[in-house]
Amino acid sequence: MKIRYFDHAATTAVSEEVLNAMLPYFRKNYGNPSSMYEIARISKKAINEARAKVAHSINASPKEIYFTSCGSESDNLAIKGIAYANKEKGNHIITSKIEHNAVLNTCQRLEKQGYEITYLDVDEKGFVRLDELEDAIKDNTILITIMFANNEVGTIEPIEQISKIAKKHNIIFHTDAVQAIGNVRIDVKELDIDALSMSAHKFYGPKGVGALYVKSGINFQRIQDGGHQEMDKRAGTENVAEIVGMGKAIESVYRNFDERCNYLKDIRDYYINRVEREIPYAKLNGDRIKRLPGNANFSFKGLTGERILFNLDLNGICASAGSACATGSLLPSHVLSAMGITEELANSTLRTTFGEENTKEDIDFLVDCLKNIK
Ligand SMILES: *Cc1c(COP(=O)(O)O)cnc(C)c1O
Repeated sequence: MKIRYFDHAATTAVSEEVLNAMLPYFRKNYGNPSSMYEIARISKKAINEARAKVAHSINASPKEIYFTSCGSESDNLAIKGIAYANKEKGNHIITSKIEHNAVLNTCQRLEKQGYEITYLDVDEKGFVRLDELEDAIKDNTILITIMFANNEVGTIEPIEQISKIAKKHNIIFHTDAVQAIGNVRIDVKELDIDALSMSAHKFYGPKGVGALYVKSGINFQRIQDGGHQEMDKRAGTENVAEIVGMGKAIESVYRNFDERCNYLKDIRDYYINRVEREIPYAKLNGDRIKRLPGNANFSFKGLTGERILFNLDLNGICASAGSACATGSLLPSHVLSAMGITEELANSTLRTTFGEENTKEDIDFLVDCLKNIK
């Protein structure tokens, strides 16, 4: 059976180009970058080249890029690292209710350690309200962490305005850009972003490698102790092959950026239009315009996400529901709940996230399958 993959927000396949770039670093150039001989220098040079590519793609400087093991680690390092290092300035952090668990659970951990966290509500499209953000700021606020784009409904937050508010009050601003990298052009200087998380496997790189950008001069602390790797901010022998893969992946995703995004928007809107025309019980979640190019999220009233996924899976289709199956009961997604979507509708949600290998024929197949689920 042909597999049709519409779950690119969960992960992507490593591209041929990325795989080929990585291969020499498993067996031929396996030196530890910290060692003092030729194969080690080759590894070190490869890491520096990857660092330059990651930096260039967001208009940062290479010395502002720290490689990590994943997007979750980047979020942990940013939020805990900034919170611990700025403790004497205050203990209040502002985030939103629709963040990824890597941010939410990190904030909850800090709450147990004596920090005070404000979780901002969002509107019905999933946007943080700027007046509520400004109202939440206090004298002891040290960090604002708001995601660039949401992984479930694809809403792109007003990052420029959020960053302006943070700057006006002299507060550090971190953003989880794991979904935005490759899908939005990001210039950290223009947007005045202090810290930004990313993860390679969301843009055709390998799983198990991420990066954190932290602007020079921003105080942050290591959270993993050990050796002096990554400018003394993240201990552990570097994952050379995957770091090389991440550099290659980010370079190629931004190389044909316009063409790729236009293609994704085109097939996304084709899907949205067909569903809205042909499935009367379907309702789009999130914003129509300010949404990730490959994301569509619908509630199908009367069906459950579980039932939809089961039927799609029988037809070789990979997609996601808007709920997390925990201990046998279906919990509605915290994102959809925060947007004020009823539990019934939230539990009838299907997220499809398209990629460059998907075609209009694939989408026709998907819509035809959806129409047949009763
Ligand atoms: C996937 C994802 C993460 C976690 O990244 P991992 O590399 O899987 O740890 C964090 N934030 C967002 C928004 C994501 O989509």
